[in-house]
Amino acid sequence: MSENSCSGNCASCGSNCAERKTESLFEPTREFNDIKHIIAIVSGKGGVGKSAVTSMLAVSLAKKGYKVGILDADITGPSIPKAFGITAKAMQNELGILPAETKSGIKIISVNMLLPDGEQPVVWRGPVIAGLVKQFWQDVVWGELDYLLVDCPPGTGDVPLTVFQTIKLDGAVVVTSPQDLVSLIVKKALNMANMMNINVLGIVENMSYIVCPDCGKKFSVFGESDGAYDDFGVKLLGKLPIDPSLATMIDNGNVELYEGDALNNAVNEIETL
Ligand code: ADP
Repeated sequence: MSENSCSGNCASCGSNCAERKTESLFEPTREFNDIKHIIAIVSGKGGVGKSAVTSMLAVSLAKKGYKVGILDADITGPSIPKAFGITAKAMQNELGILPAETKSGIKIISVNMLLPDGEQPVVWRGPVIAGLVKQFWQDVVWGELDYLLVDCPPGTGDVPLTVFQTIKLDGAVVVTSPQDLVSLIVKKALNMANMMNINVLGIVENMSYIVCPDCGKKFSVFGESDGAYDDFGVKLLGKLPIDPSLATMIDNGNVELYEGDALNNAVNEIETL
């Protein structure tokens, strides 16, 4: 096989060429799904706003007229249904599991839609969690999507590894907080992405600063990060402030009301795929 015609996905290719160095673990989704681009949203640690950024990216892409889905792979800390006010349980038809649909038509699947009660913790071993992530990829009736956003579990453990090895991603957006710079957490997340040959589209720095409601001055509560990402060889796609109105929107299940433009560069980058 010539280098030009190689998709890099040996799992979906029968050619026994010299490039087939190791057996790929990528698994195809089902034949009834037509998903054009898959983007993972990742973070080195929890609580930095990865799910918030995933939701806002989905809202921004849907507003531009794209068909968007969110696969909530953060099985032990699922926050996506809450942000969109989804309380319905997942249904099934003869093809597979049906995702919920938000007011603006974003398709969502999350473990919360399978549990009898959202307050129940998921106390499962890694392989069980990884199995569910695979099922969300393979057995959900996504139909036709322009973009499937995968809200990955934080860190560099078993489940993010399963996501990276099972789903052939087109790119990843890394969400950080300024504190991650100090503790080298960004570096670890980026190194993992490099090791897995993932195309990192760039970094979104969340909780970057606050704006004083009285004087409008910006305060970088966790320290300045300007220029700090230059050494990493990836683009800084945007900085989001700590915004109490955003937190309230998410808490009330109204993330679709989000109208900010801080993620415009990230959306543009996704559109170039
Ligand atoms: P993660 O997915 O990284 O664990 P979440 O997206 O669930 O983090 O965010 C953690 C909490 O912080 C949530 O309550 C969310 O509403 C809030 N949050 C996230 N980003 C912001 C922000 N920029 N301003 C205010 N609150 C935020």
